[in-house]
Amino acid sequence: MDSELPLYFEVAVAAPVPQSLTYAPPAGVVAPLPPGHRLLVPLGRRQVTGYLLACVTSPPPSPPGREAGSAEADRPNKWGKIRPALALLDPEPLFPAAMVPFFRWIAEYYHHPIGEVIQCALPAGLNRRSARVVELTPAGALALAPLLESGKNTTPPNATQTQPPRSATRTKDAPAGGQQEENPAWLAELLAKGRLSPTLSARIIRQRRSPLPHWQKQGWIRLDSLLCRESIRIKTETVITPVSTGGTPDDIAGQLKPAEAKTLALLHELAGDNPQGVPRRELLKKYPGAARALSGLLARHLVRSREQRRYRDPFGDAPPFFPKPAALSTEQEEVLARLRPALAAKAYAPFLLHGITGSGKTEIYLRAAEEVLAQGRQVLVLVPEIALATQLEGHFCSRFGNAVALLHSGLSGGQRFDQWSLLLKGEARIAIGARSAIFAPLADPGLIIVDEEHDPAYKQEDGLRYNARDLALLRGLQQQATVILGSATPAVSSYYQAEKGKFRLLTMTRRVEDRPLPTVQVVDLKEVKTVSGFPPLFSPQLVRALKENLAAGQQSLVFLNRRGFANLMLCKDCGRPVQCEHCQVSLTLHKKAGVLLCHHCGYRRPRETVCPHCRSGSLVAAGFGTERLEDELRRHFPAARLARLDQDTTRDRKQFMAVLKAVRDRQVDILVGTQMITKGHHFPAVTLVGIVWADAGLGIPDFKAAERTFQLLTQVTGRAGREELPGRVIVQTLQADHYSVALAQAHDYRTLYEKEIALRRRLNFPPFGRLINLRFDGEQEERVRDIALQLGRLAGEGGDRRVSVLGPAPAPLSRLKGRYRWQLLLKGGEVKPLHRLCRRLLAEFARLPGASTVKLSLDVDPENML
Ligand code: ADP
Ligand code: ZN
Ligand code: ZN
Repeated sequence: MDSELPLYFEVAVAAPVPQSLTYAPPAGVVAPLPPGHRLLVPLGRRQVTGYLLACVTSPPPSPPGREAGSAEADRPNKWGKIRPALALLDPEPLFPAAMVPFFRWIAEYYHHPIGEVIQCALPAGLNRRSARVVELTPAGALALAPLLESGKNTTPPNATQTQPPRSATRTKDAPAGGQQEENPAWLAELLAKGRLSPTLSARIIRQRRSPLPHWQKQGWIRLDSLLCRESIRIKTETVITPVSTGGTPDDIAGQLKPAEAKTLALLHELAGDNPQGVPRRELLKKYPGAARALSGLLARHLVRSREQRRYRDPFGDAPPFFPKPAALSTEQEEVLARLRPALAAKAYAPFLLHGITGSGKTEIYLRAAEEVLAQGRQVLVLVPEIALATQLEGHFCSRFGNAVALLHSGLSGGQRFDQWSLLLKGEARIAIGARSAIFAPLADPGLIIVDEEHDPAYKQEDGLRYNARDLALLRGLQQQATVILGSATPAVSSYYQAEKGKFRLLTMTRRVEDRPLPTVQVVDLKEVKTVSGFPPLFSPQLVRALKENLAAGQQSLVFLNRRGFANLMLCKDCGRPVQCEHCQVSLTLHKKAGVLLCHHCGYRRPRETVCPHCRSGSLVAAGFGTERLEDELRRHFPAARLARLDQDTTRDRKQFMAVLKAVRDRQVDILVGTQMITKGHHFPAVTLVGIVWADAGLGIPDFKAAERTFQLLTQVTGRAGREELPGRVIVQTLQADHYSVALAQAHDYRTLYEKEIALRRRLNFPPFGRLINLRFDGEQEERVRDIALQLGRLAGEGGDRRVSVLGPAPAPLSRLKGRYRWQLLLKGGEVKPLHRLCRRLLAEFARLPGASTVKLSLDVDPENML
């Protein structure tokens, strides 16, 4: 582009502004920049981070949507003038230009502001914006100081109502919150420092009976705008390189102090392992005296020092090593023979790899990755959760070493940013991570793998509610990549696409080395007689099998998809359950922690509590969870070594890895756990799997309940007998005749698929009809209901027969985290009319009176109907 031409920046701002905005370049920038740069831009009276999408030579015409846009939308050319950006924030782009169309598509499809899409995609902590801070004026210092000094009852002039007696016990977290009679603790900070931090300022400005407006009117304080810096910084370190001189080290040694000579000798020694330079930190660790000696050496130009980027290592404990198998199975060979031409073609090619558990899908991923890396392209691997990333990471690191970068929420912000940068610069060429890794900054991915593609964890359930599996296909299409969706139990909708020929189907029907699939025995709990008349936790069949397995020195898994000790606390007097104060759900007893806990919002109350309805003190625990399973197993098998894997026992990745390692090292006889133990793990010595309550998920009001149950049962079943010893599975259930239980027993995916697809076709549910769920929530029940009803009426008025409107109705979880919830479901066979209606409703919503008290969030292609 000719630099004589005028230059405009198309920028997506990190704020709820639907469209991109136009700015002039910041001072000093005259030439076009590549997209992906971060800028600081003015937005109204604020300053926010913006992302450069494109450089253009003429400003775009004002799109029609902009006039109707929200009040938030700043129109830089409102006065016929385009405002300049304020600063360029980084020397280099943060994402490759090839991702701009990806972001645009996502913003459009999920009806989400494009700047917020990009903000969600980038590593957290890279957001610079302006914030308001409270500043003390000289007059304020005089007027307010007596408040603190005298402690009590000193009234500053004209401030009677703001005058609080001093309280030493007030904490910083609880500033005056409407209790004007007390002296706020933050006042001391304001007086001492002259200003408050942006966070504290925001909290006090928001307070309902804040004294600030009055103080501002008196001229005692000022509200100023301050730029908040990002919380993530590039980490650098000083590295030292010895400068080669003509003479030998001994020639120079005579002229040096002993400490300098020693430092120089050490540098030469360490330089062998550090061709880029020896980190100063390492040098000092070996010889603290080097700190002073270095300045002498630098002055004599015997060493050079420079700053170098330092990357934080995310791997922590090294992942396990896996050797490359000597030969591939016949099925693996066949699958690869079909993949290779697609990989070589460097064009979009979507595959569904349907391979039963233990058929060796990982090896397919590794071989395909090898081919793509050889072409100089990059690889993206998605796994449903970080737990599984661990295992795949082991495989990929064993094969490709340093080429691997990890992206997941288990990393610190700094680590994530570093891994991001390595990928962006092409220094790492394989990205492995959970759903958000779909945004990995790869300029040229040749292969995108989605392992366990059926897993609901690929769906983000708040904010930008995207589905990483769907986005993998889009990214593959936009960037000419082969996409492999792998699963033993493909999502019904994915298998349908394969049937229709939209995906190419690859099948592996046998386990590696022809190991048999485990035998599955179904135990009907209704038939088991007990003294209490209630079904037992452990049937005699399961107890016997566990006993046999223990005696044989083999490992067992016991699975139940519910944590805690008891999921119900019932009042003996009025019979009602103790519910969360903020959610319409029962509290779960966690015995060891001694609390009743809400699994939705984290609300807790002590175990010893009274019935909130009748104040009775006699509560009984009913129901069960993994904590209780562990307890009962201990009673049954006092000598067995037990371990439990659920959210309560594994708060972080370290603990999780420790349990997995203990199981692999055979230090555990019985592992109890939630779905955490079902996914993809390869435990060589597990020969028995017990499923405590197979039909637990069948009662959930969701059209995917049967599909989910089948997938869960098949996955957990697949953990047994993965090496030499054959496996067996005992499935306990109250619905022994339900097809998803019976078909999982028979390892019959095909029939499950046919049953489900027939059902979906009849009801016009996905993959036939598409869904968008409009979710409303707010603190006032009537407001939420009113707005939902109004929008429901407006939806019906469109008269578009291609879209059907279901509801509005209260959501199945009608109260969550203190907010009332309603929903309105739109269903349509075609994408366009459905999204058109959605756009209209969003615009109508903004105009409804009272809409500001209700939050409307869109869930496009919902996975979860609760
Ligand atoms: P899946 O993901 O399909 O359930 P895995 O990829 O975990 O199965 O493979 C199951 C086991 O078989 C693993 O231990 C893996 O190392 C091993 N395996 C895979 N391919 C081969 C092969 N060609 N020869 C020998 N062992 C293999
Ligand atoms: Zn009661
Ligand atoms: Zn709750």
